[in-house]
Amino acid sequence: MAYDPRTGTIRSRTLSLTYEIPVSKIAKFWEALGEGKVLAVRCRKCGRRMFPPQAVCDRCYSDDLEWFEIKSVGEVIAFTHIVVRPASFQENPVYTPAIAEFKEEGVRVLAWIAPGVPKRAIKVGMKVRVEGRVTEEGRRTWFLVPAE
Ligand SMILES: [Zn+2]
Repeated sequence: MAYDPRTGTIRSRTLSLTYEIPVSKIAKFWEALGEGKVLAVRCRKCGRRMFPPQAVCDRCYSDDLEWFEIKSVGEVIAFTHIVVRPASFQENPVYTPAIAEFKEEGVRVLAWIAPGVPKRAIKVGMKVRVEGRVTEEGRRTWFLVPAE
């Protein structure tokens, strides 16, 4: 291990961590992505809408939630092009995370703009839909795709 007398530290080897994240209480969300759909939840007790879906309301802690699909046209309210990618994203081409507001459903969605959308087409105010997809590596995810 590399010893640094200036800081009095040793540097460990680079670690690669993988987690198994329990999602059984929101399995419906992951299943729907495979069908191209993106689901969110609404709390029946206080009305809070949550995306990504949670098993328990983060406002009132009720677990009485109902599912709904995000299927309207939303609008990009913020985005950024990621050119310098973190280690675990080195294999991805440059990508663009964005936040879109779906007023009809009352949720905001953080997602990548779908691959293949030209950078110059991405703007605040851009009309988008959110779409579930299964990547070539078998990862279930969701993308923002231009609505027109
Ligand atoms: Zn609630």
